[in-house]
Parts: sequence; structure tokens; C-alpha cells
Amino acid sequence: MGLDFVALDFETANRSHASACAVGAVRVRDGQVVDEYATLVRPAEELDDFEPGNVRVHRITFDDVKSAPGWPEVYGHLRTFIGDDVVVGHNAAFDMSVLLNTCGAHDIEFPALSSLCTLQLARASIKIPSYSLPWVVEHLQLPAFDHHDPLADARASALVLIALAARAGVHSVADLSDYLRVPRIPTWTERDDMLFAQLSAESDDLIGTGFAGEVVCFTGALKMMVRDRARELVVEQGGKWQEGVTKTTSILVTGDFDERTFRPGAAFSSKLAKAFAQVDAGQKLEIITEEAFITRMTIGEQELRARLGARNARTKVPDWVVSQAGNGPGEDFWDWYRRALAHPSGRASGGEPCIWCNAPVPAKTHWIHRDRHVCGAYCNERLKRGARRAWHREGIAVHVAEWE
Ligand SMILES: [Zn+2]
Repeated sequence: MGLDFVALDFETANRSHASACAVGAVRVRDGQVVDEYATLVRPAEELDDFEPGNVRVHRITFDDVKSAPGWPEVYGHLRTFIGDDVVVGHNAAFDMSVLLNTCGAHDIEFPALSSLCTLQLARASIKIPSYSLPWVVEHLQLPAFDHHDPLADARASALVLIALAARAGVHSVADLSDYLRVPRIPTWTERDDMLFAQLSAESDDLIGTGFAGEVVCFTGALKMMVRDRARELVVEQGGKWQEGVTKTTSILVTGDFDERTFRPGAAFSSKLAKAFAQVDAGQKLEIITEEAFITRMTIGEQELRARLGARNARTKVPDWVVSQAGNGPGEDFWDWYRRALAHPSGRASGGEPCIWCNAPVPAKTHWIHRDRHVCGAYCNERLKRGARRAWHREGIAVHVAEWE
């Protein structure tokens, strides 16, 4: 077994992780890039508004994707491309979340995969002021690349992993993961079961995900939110905030740069320059952009929702899933499937409780979720799996092949 994996990178149209609009993938065999796959993706209807913050980062607009293939077609290629490999990404939690949520918005089963994050590997291996991909690439003396072009990012994170493995003197993804003590994370549904098992035994510490234990300071003008709100969010996710950088600051969010301009060699304000000096002097401080701050927060929110969901989760699928299923699918499988799972009271307009975890159904989630009164892809997945078990129990014949 050599150094084999697939590196993946997604861009999204908006803050919804179900809105994949571009993907790049790179296959590595024995430490060499041997194949690449990249495409634009047309997001599902209702998930296809391109928000300015996202466009500023990746420069992809609706016009670029309007004749691109939709997710089911892209996923078909991508799933084959990935095969049984470990998925590698820089901030893999984001890329895996986009993969799972975009599948969820199209009723495609979550794939059983495991992922490994080069951001975490880099943090465990080298000491630099920012672990944003351009900084890691520069530090490891890898070729410069066009950050936020998905294929370029996937290739860069692949080269980062290869370089870190060489530094560690290991020859497989599993050995690198063990050596740096960065775990490979199985896809969510399996992890959910693990969390659920833990939660029934543990107490109710439900805050503290995205910024648990971190001391966060902001500098420069934030573009996407006011500073007071950003500080509140830090506290909601288990962190503390500070007015100015001190010896205890662990994260400095800079509003003066975005994901494209924050790179080695840029001209920094005196406050940032001071922060860089503090890192050089040995302080554990990481400098991140506002976009990275928001991504981290969204992932933290999902983690929290997953934990809450696991805790409040119902154990039995609602009865209508069986009563509405009749004798099973007729001519049109998807028509039958979606009618069987639909909530009897009709499409949620937003705010109704999720039938699985009780969290409010967001007004801006995909109609598939609103039809079922589920809060998102994860509760939808629980509903689907539960329904399959119930149909099987009731002797309703559904061929599993329909889902694949
Ligand atoms: Zn839910």
C-alpha cells in the first residue's frame, strides 16, 4: 500500500452547503497525481442564488453554471472517481459537508467514506501564522496556485499531504494520520451513531463546537456581518472574544483581506504585522479571513445541530411513511417515494418543527426537506433510512437498486 487518496475541493453558490457549484478532484497513487476531474455544477433550484460573498471568493456566477450538469450527473462521475479512497481536503469538514448536503438535497444516499484534513495535518506538523492553503503551500515550497479554483485547490492540498508525508517519513495516509494524530473522519451517518451512543452516557454539554476554548479577536472591517454579531457568535460556539490582541489570543480574524488577497507577501497593517511577530515569537495564534471564520462557524453550527438532533431524535419513523406508501412504487419511483415521505400537512413554509429533531425547518431549505418537515440533509437521511427499514418490516417491496 502506497500513498493513495483522492483530494477534493468544492465551491458553493451561497452559504448553504447544499449549493455546490464547482468541484475539483485529484487522484493520487503512490504519492503521484495520476488523474484529475473538475466540473462546474448547476445547483438545484432554490439553492442557485449566487451570494456576493461567495462570488467574490470563487468568481463563479449563475451564468457560468446555467448549462453545467446538475448534481446527480456530477455525483455519478465523482463517486466512481473517489472509489474506496480516503477523501483529502484542506478543511475537509467543509468539503465533506458540501458533498453530503448536496447529496441530501437530491435524495442521493450519503456515501460511506472517510476523510482526512490537510488543514489539521498542517496545524499538527508545522508552525506558521496562517494555515490558509496559500500559506501552507508557500511554507512547504510547493508551486504557487490559483486559490479557489477547485481543481487548483484540490491539487495543492494533494501536494501538501504528499509533502507532509515525506517530512514525516511515512508512506500511507493511515500512517500519516496516526503519526500526526489527526483522525480520519467517517461520513456523518456513522459518526452520528457514535455521537448518539456517547450522548446517552454523557451530560448535556451542548455548546462549544466551532470556537470551544478559543480566544478570538477581530481586526479590520468585516464585510459580511457587524462585529458585535460576530462576537456573539463566538460566545454561542463556546469561545471568548477580546478587544485587542494579547498573549492569550488564539485566533485573529482579519476583515482587511479576503480568501483571495490574504497570502504571503501581501502588505499588512501594523496590527497584523504585530500579530505575525507574536507568532514568530512563539505564541499559538492563528490568523484567518472572515470567510474562513464563517465556514468554521457554519460547520460548528452543523455539529451542534447534529448533537442536538442525536439527543432529541425520535426512534421510530412517523406512521404516515408506511400508510402513504400503499403497496410500494408503481410506474414512477420518485413520485411514489416523495409522496410516501411527504408530511401530511403539506410543504413547510419555515419555522415548523423538524419531525426528527424538533429544530425549526429553515424557510430557505430545499423543497424536498420542506415537504418532509425535516430541518436539513441529516434529518432527511435519518427519515429515509428509517422509512426503508419500516417498509421492509411491513413487506412493502422496494428494490434498493432504485437508490443507487
Ligand atoms: Zn432535524
